[in-house]
Amino acid sequence: MRALVNILLILTAWWPKERSGLEHHPVMEFADFVLEDTSIAYDIQHYKLAFDVDIPAETLSAQTEITLKMLEPGDSLMLHFVGMEVSEIKEGGESRSFNRVDSFLVVSLGRTATEGEELTITVSYHGKPTRASAGFGKGLYIDSSQSDDAVTYTCNAPWAAKYWFPCQDNPADKATSQMEITVPEGYEVISNGTLISAERTGAQWVFNWQENHPIATYLIAFAASKNYVLTTDTAMINGTPLPIYHWVLAKDSAQVTPKLMRVNEIVEYFSELFYPYPFLDEKYAHVHFPVRGAMENQTCTHINTGIDWGDWDVIVAHELSHSWWGNAITCRKLKHMWLNEGFATYCEALWIEHRDGPQAYQEYYENQIAGFYLDWFPAHNDPILDPPWSEIYSPLTYEKPAAVLHMLRRIVGDDEFFSILRTYGERYQDSTALSEDFEAVVDEATGQDYSWFFNQWLRAPGHPEYLISWGVEPTGDSVRVIMRLRQTQSWPPDVPIFQMPVEFGLIEGADTSFVSFIDSLEDQSFEVTIGGAPDEVIFDPEGNLLCEIEVSGIAEKNPDEGSGFVCSTICSGLLEYSCDANQRVDIAIYDVAGRQIETWSGIKESGSLDLGHLSGGVYFLRVLSLPSQTHRVVLIR
Ligand SMILES: [Zn+2]
Repeated sequence: MRALVNILLILTAWWPKERSGLEHHPVMEFADFVLEDTSIAYDIQHYKLAFDVDIPAETLSAQTEITLKMLEPGDSLMLHFVGMEVSEIKEGGESRSFNRVDSFLVVSLGRTATEGEELTITVSYHGKPTRASAGFGKGLYIDSSQSDDAVTYTCNAPWAAKYWFPCQDNPADKATSQMEITVPEGYEVISNGTLISAERTGAQWVFNWQENHPIATYLIAFAASKNYVLTTDTAMINGTPLPIYHWVLAKDSAQVTPKLMRVNEIVEYFSELFYPYPFLDEKYAHVHFPVRGAMENQTCTHINTGIDWGDWDVIVAHELSHSWWGNAITCRKLKHMWLNEGFATYCEALWIEHRDGPQAYQEYYENQIAGFYLDWFPAHNDPILDPPWSEIYSPLTYEKPAAVLHMLRRIVGDDEFFSILRTYGERYQDSTALSEDFEAVVDEATGQDYSWFFNQWLRAPGHPEYLISWGVEPTGDSVRVIMRLRQTQSWPPDVPIFQMPVEFGLIEGADTSFVSFIDSLEDQSFEVTIGGAPDEVIFDPEGNLLCEIEVSGIAEKNPDEGSGFVCSTICSGLLEYSCDANQRVDIAIYDVAGRQIETWSGIKESGSLDLGHLSGGVYFLRVLSLPSQTHRVVLIR
């Protein structure tokens, strides 16, 4: 989903890199939303929705038939439903009593249904649909006007399906669906899945669409208009034809449709990169709707084609990519939205990379992903995972997690990264997933525990703010280059000290050599001995980290010098140290992964620590007392 919201335009003064001059994140204000973490007593298998839409009267006469399986014994059911008048509810052909409580329809079964029992509930209702007061999707909008851009449409994300049909309005409960929509003659109706039939009955037409893949409730949609012009096309996925449709307003079609048709190349590329398009036996469609944005309704993306999207490939790739990330795999809880939107935002960059090359990808990452988030961050300080409701559609769930995926790719390498995406995609296809499921695939694929990476990036707010300095010391025929990296993030207070692989570029004339380290401490120095002094040392030369960088500007000498504390390389397991005077010394020892190994305290002018029980390698010794400082030590075996 991409939304364009006027209210955010007032912030453009400090928003240097807007996309096409338009903003795309909706403001969410929720008062009465779904209790998504409450237990669901039943599992919906299938929705059969029948709507007789009286477009001139802007009313609806409808019947929703729900087939569900009881997950626990119960004598009543709670369905989500808001507005319109319910005339009758039947269960297994028998009328049942019901009442309405807040946004729920409570159906009395008149008996205790057993666990595992399959029930069919039919709800008949009619009236003028009410619409949600907040959120991106507000339900069903019936447009009776005779204008050349009149469109009747639905938009649910994330919780407005219940404003037009009784349902379990929760992404955890996916089902198959069928939609039979009756409209006055002259209207065309588009919905999810495949068109089974379109038949005239008197002065009306009945369109019957069927979605055979499990679909999340918020992705169930239709649109109807007298003003659509259809352009058909075909993409080829591994030799299988995929029907592509573009339903665009007649007045815009000639100008707009060519901009959408790049979707063929994009769906072919993503099918190669991830796995074949998940709804290959159905279709992919663009359907114009007048909402300021676009919405990835399963197999039929609704997009406002009256907006100048700038580089249209970006929005087309974003919405299409939700077919894999959001539709085939749906985030089981809305507060894991990054699995939908972070992935789709990253797919924008993947398409740019394929179309324009690696340099364009890098620029897109730095400007539209990392830069966009960093400009937004100063006023927001929540984690990606489990953000407040007001931020489930924000740079926290779009750009920041897209940057996290970029950094993960750089750490594990391209082959591993795309293998992870394929495994995750295929494992949870036609199902739902939580963040932990994706993280487990990463651990499994790499054979390593990546909790250090995900915990800091997903479960804590913020990003590193690095203060860089460097200096040079002659050592015989060579020079020692000392690079000092301080993490200065102090607001908000719960932004952690990040552990990340970092890279420095040492520039000498026209040559640049690269050195890499693991940075994991608030204040850490690295050194490397080379033949001659570099002209310049630059941090993160390829621009991979999601961070802010400040360079002190003054080449400094070894920060260990004159600090009052000196320690040596550890020989035979003994670390020797001395400090200026008798004073308290608190020391913590870390390994290169940033794990604290042990601590030591004492009041001594000099002494030694026995680290003979540790294996050989590089450690970091952090002096917690005195002026805080960090030393890199090597334990030789
Ligand atoms: Zn999206």
